[in-house]
Formats: sequence, structure tokens, C-alpha cells
Amino acid sequence: MEVEDKLVWSYDEKGQFSVKSAYILEFDSKRAKRGETSRVREVDRRWKDMWKLKVPEKVKLFMWKAGNEILPTRRNLQLRKIVEDSICPICKEIEETVMHVIWQCPAASDVWAEFNKILQKWSLNEDDLLSLWKKLVDKVGKAEMGEIASVMREIRNQVWKKPRESFIKANWDATVDQKEKKMRIGVMIRDEEGEVLVVVEGHQRNVDQPAVAKSYALWKGDAQLIVKAVNNQEEDRSVYGSIVEASKKLISSWKDWSVEFVYRNANEAAHTLAKEALHLDTEIVWIEETPNCIRNITERERTCKEGSCLYQ
Ligand SMILES: [Zn+2]
Repeated sequence: MEVEDKLVWSYDEKGQFSVKSAYILEFDSKRAKRGETSRVREVDRRWKDMWKLKVPEKVKLFMWKAGNEILPTRRNLQLRKIVEDSICPICKEIEETVMHVIWQCPAASDVWAEFNKILQKWSLNEDDLLSLWKKLVDKVGKAEMGEIASVMREIRNQVWKKPRESFIKANWDATVDQKEKKMRIGVMIRDEEGEVLVVVEGHQRNVDQPAVAKSYALWKGDAQLIVKAVNNQEEDRSVYGSIVEASKKLISSWKDWSVEFVYRNANEAAHTLAKEALHLDTEIVWIEETPNCIRNITERERTCKEGSCLYQ
């Protein structure tokens, strides 16, 4: 009788590859090298908690790579002499380590600030993922840990994607200067090939307090909440309900429009534009032209295959 050859992972009872079995294998081989018996499997409790999470394997694999410092961050790529510069490409302020990407970078802390009250007040000075993980399990509870792991992966992995065929995509971002009562905006519109159609860099002066709050909520601080609200069928009765309802009405009058929230990794060009607009006195609009400050970003996003542009 002929039996088809089958690839079997012999380190798992069911013969299936899993991050947990790969980890135990590595752990055992390290112990074996040190002359210890492979039966002793004192797997770190913190990892154990992670394996029990009800999340897809890809999220566990991400956490495993992050916890072992083997994600291709700028710092790790610099150590392997693949890139020269280890500075974070998003905030351009500090070296891009694993903890910088998923916790300390403003792009990450903005996300956690919206997550829940406990995380809002959490210190940025965490520099070890496993110890942060243990503290989080104690404070937040296991139920939410799966969601936290998934968001950590999203923050790191989300990249700009071209719109689907015959669609265009608009990305926007804004920064609010409360002291000067100014709001700066960056808008990018690109086609299905990733070619730039329109770029807008602008600002709004004399934004008074209530308007600052509303604009801030709408454009940046609570962008995720606003996007959820705009996509919700039920009437919005919150403080910014009137803006949400007006947006819904406008969007429903257009055919084939949708609004979705993206993390800053997927919004790099619009974010850079909004930041650059700090130096502007007037609004600038480019048609089928790209300003210098975002040329590298749009070129990378235009030419990269899904996901691969993260590592350049
Ligand atoms: Zn950063």
C-alpha cells in the first residue's frame, strides 16, 4: 500500500508545528547543552501565560520573537549590518528597539492611551517585554491579555496598503498645538498603483478650546473611537455625536466609500506631512507631485510588496 509522505513536527503530540513546541525544543536543547536532563521543563511562567492566550498562532509567534529580541527592528538590523541607522523611522527621535516599537514610541503610546484606563497611566519606562507582560497580567487580568498581544503585533506590523482596483485611498493625520491654538493637517490621496494624486499640507489658526477638543478627537486623539462611531449604524449621542452624525450622512451620500482606522505605521506619509506643516504659513496643495519630505516614504510604499517594506 502506498502512503503519501507527510511532513510531521515530531516535537508536538499532534504532529503540528506550534510556537510552544518550538520554544520547548529550543529550551530543551539549551538545557541538554548544559548537561541537564531534557525532561526538566521549567518553562518560564511568563511564557506559559502567553501560550494559554486565546489568540492566533501568528500573534504568539510575534510575542515569542519580540520577547527574544529577534524582531527585525532598526537596532537589530544595524547590529547585523543590514542598515546603518537605528533611529525609529516614525518618531525619528530614539533608537528603534522592540520595546520602543510596541510601547515607548509616541505612535504606540497613543494607541495604549486609548486602550483602557490602566494602560493610559502606565509608565513609558518599561524596557523589558517579559517583565512588562508579568505586570500587565497582574493588573489587567488574563482576559484582556490576548487583545493586548494582538494590538502589539498590529502596532508593529500594520503597513500602508494600496487601495483595491479602481479605488483611491486618502490618508490623513493632524497635530494640535494647544498653546498656539493651531491645528496642522496632512492629507495624502493615492491610486491603486500607489501613485500620488493629491497632497495637502495645511493648518487652521485660532482654534478655540471646544473646537480644539472636537478637532483633536476627530483627527487624532480618539481617531479609533471616531472611526468606530462613524461606522456604527446606531445614532451617536456622545459629546461629538453631531460631528459623527454629519460625517455618516455625508459618507452615505457617496457611493462605495468606507472609513477605517490605521495605526501610525500605516499612516507614515500623512503623519510626516502634518508634522512638517508646523513650519507653514499657508496651505499647500500638490497635484500629482510629491513634496521632498515624504518622497522616500511614498516611493517605498509604492514599490513594496505587502509587509516587506517594514524591513527596508
Ligand atoms: Zn519612535
